[in-house]
Amino acid sequence: VPIVIAMDGPSGSGKSSASKGVARALGLRYLDTGAMYRAMTWWMLREGVPVEDPAAVAARAMDPVLDSGTDPAAPTITVDGADVSGPIRTREVTNAVSAVSSVPAVRTRLVQLQREIIGIGGIVVEGRDIGTVVAPDAQVKVYLTASEEVRARRRAGDLAADPGASVTVTRAEQARRDRIDSTRAASPLTKAADAQEIDSTELGLDEVIEAVVRLVKE
Ligand code: C5P
Repeated sequence: VPIVIAMDGPSGSGKSSASKGVARALGLRYLDTGAMYRAMTWWMLREGVPVEDPAAVAARAMDPVLDSGTDPAAPTITVDGADVSGPIRTREVTNAVSAVSSVPAVRTRLVQLQREIIGIGGIVVEGRDIGTVVAPDAQVKVYLTASEEVRARRRAGDLAADPGASVTVTRAEQARRDRIDSTRAASPLTKAADAQEIDSTELGLDEVIEAVVRLVKE
């Protein structure tokens, strides 16, 4: 049976780098579900949808055409055919994404798309609810964590080009996003009962990748 590897955890835990690395090491496809929520959010903002209004967001949830490329060496995400890999990483989108991803109609649509992409497997899937909701039958489930300090530093590093994104500001924005993601009614971030927790606070990327590959070979 082709494998599904579920990689869940909070922002800045190092999920994306680790997930891509595991997919490359094992010759698997890669899906970044966070990029799909970001793309949905980018589109809502561009359309002028008030993202703090769940009914307004739900009413438009079926409208954008989303497409995810699953090559771990060059993952892509398009909305209505246009590549939005850059624009979905801005602070504006980052600070609006938790509101949009809390809307059940958004989750229903994206979970369905995610399951279509996963298909029979052969893929590493990263997100918040992969082991619990999207792929509860995944053969390997990882819950990746890191200390809040280390997670804020990693995020600030990602945002180095944005002068407003100091470690302090990033830390506050990230704490807010993680709080909403972990306390929302619809599929909150939680560790699946059968997930293996890996704390990456003191680990380098290669060590995290090795730890996951070891779980796969067990
Ligand atoms: O992983 P990333 O930080 O790019 O995810 C962006 C946001 O998308 C998260 O803060 C969360 O609100 C949402 N998300 C989600 N479920 C997933 C993946 C991401 O709700 N499976």
